[in-house]
Amino acid sequence: MEDIKKIYDVAVVGAGTGGSTAARVATQKGLEVCLIDRKAKNEIGNKICGDAVGTEIFDFLNIKHPTNEELSCHIKGAKIYSPDMKKCINLLDPKQAGYIVNRLEFGQRLLDDALNACVTSFLDNTIALELLYENHIVSGVRVKLKNGEKKEIRAKIVIDASGFYSPLRKTIRSNIVEKIIPKEDSILCYREIVKFPPSEHKVQDPEYITIILDKKRAPGGYIWYFPKNESSINIGLGVFMDYKGKVKEFYQNNVFRNYIKTSKYEILSSGGGVVPIRRPLWSCADDGIMLIGDAACQVNPLHGGGIDPSMRGGYFAANVAFEAIQKGDYTLKSLWKYNVDVMRSFGAEYASLDLLRQVLQVFTNEELNFGLGKDLLSGEEILEISSTGGLTLSIFDMASKFIKGISKPDLLLDLNYLRIRMKEISSIYKRFPIDLNEFERWKNNAIEVNNKVKKMLINTRIVN
Ligand SMILES: Cc1cc2nc3c(=O)[nH]c(=O)nc-3n(C[C@H](O)[C@H](O)[C@H](O)COP(=O)(O)OP(=O)(O)OC[C@H]3O[C@@H](n4cnc5c(N)ncnc54)[C@H](O)[C@@H]3O)c2cc1C
Repeated sequence: MEDIKKIYDVAVVGAGTGGSTAARVATQKGLEVCLIDRKAKNEIGNKICGDAVGTEIFDFLNIKHPTNEELSCHIKGAKIYSPDMKKCINLLDPKQAGYIVNRLEFGQRLLDDALNACVTSFLDNTIALELLYENHIVSGVRVKLKNGEKKEIRAKIVIDASGFYSPLRKTIRSNIVEKIIPKEDSILCYREIVKFPPSEHKVQDPEYITIILDKKRAPGGYIWYFPKNESSINIGLGVFMDYKGKVKEFYQNNVFRNYIKTSKYEILSSGGGVVPIRRPLWSCADDGIMLIGDAACQVNPLHGGGIDPSMRGGYFAANVAFEAIQKGDYTLKSLWKYNVDVMRSFGAEYASLDLLRQVLQVFTNEELNFGLGKDLLSGEEILEISSTGGLTLSIFDMASKFIKGISKPDLLLDLNYLRIRMKEISSIYKRFPIDLNEFERWKNNAIEVNNKVKKMLINTRIVN
């Protein structure tokens, strides 16, 4: 399987959740695929993560739901706490149900599925260095093989699934794919998997993932407490990128000490990582290349969940690659449908949630306590927002909220303004242009809505 071919249909860089899915689907469609990862085969999937994934993606892709060694536990829903912990919103809905997975075993299954589908070549311990170009179109990747040799892997189409730090995106020759992700669009995370004797410490709400919003203890993000089994949890936090170098200390002082009440614990795994929390890249494709998953900022901006969209992105990209190869056309025009698929589906939801995320990040603890405590944003509404990216409140609902929020009318007005803009951006994304020539106009419309929310925040709060 390792002999390098002269030219592949598709080179997939990165065998994480996105890349393994893309490689499997492209191979099952009959394409000749080279799958590349910098890690050793038996380490693929071993990623610092919260390990939570919903049930939907398994039905969408028609693949087996996690079981046995892949599965830590089943999750019924989420509990979201206000900063003062006085209000807990229970999100119980079939859409919130899911799994806590063992990340390595889960990743290994997705990889095995790609290998069992018979990808043409699988190169582990192989680092992709840069994109190759021919007549201004991506024509492959330069890699460093496990023996240290540098080699050119030629492919009609490259799928970049190499994660947030993608070396390919950073050096892409493109006017429409963003190379740099601004630091305000990302969040820094740190987490540990902690094990303790069940007699010493009980796992809180073992069927729920718990999220604590707290601007002081997790500025810009949130604290999570996810069960793994009766004697271990995945616990961590996300903070603004400005806290680089301090995130572990924040975790130890604000999270670990508050939630682990026994000295008899064992830390099974610890580490940090960065998650993009914004709308997807303006364009996730260019001539000869499609970007998926974290490399394309395809992550839910509200909670940072990126497993599902990386797999969805991989599926969309593999299908579009197949159609392009049938046509023998690998230009952006031919790959454009990938952008349409992404933006009109989860892209619309994420663009809308991106606006909510920006507003939530500047709310104070006092506002969060008040807003959640008074149900200015109820559990049902959060569910509606998180599953559709929008909120449809009647005039009566608004009036009842106004009465509840009477002592903080500005907060309610901000929320209402936000609700209108979320709806607006979602509808712009759902009309993402099929015609590439319409893209600039579409992008300007989307930027305008983003700017309106930024302006609201500048006018009503002290933000830069
Ligand atoms: C602390 C933390 C907690 C998270 N919690 C959750 C959660 O609970 N639920 C959830 O859904 N999401 C969570 N996420 C996000 C989620 O992990 C990612 O969004 C998801 O893994 C993205 O998948 P991907 O395939 O795009 O990238 P990755 O899974 O990052 O895979 C990228 C692959 O590319 C390979 N690679 C990188 N560079 C190169 C190179 N130069 N050459 C070759 N190969 C390369 C890597 O080895 C890796 O295998 C969390 C992230 C972090 C950091």
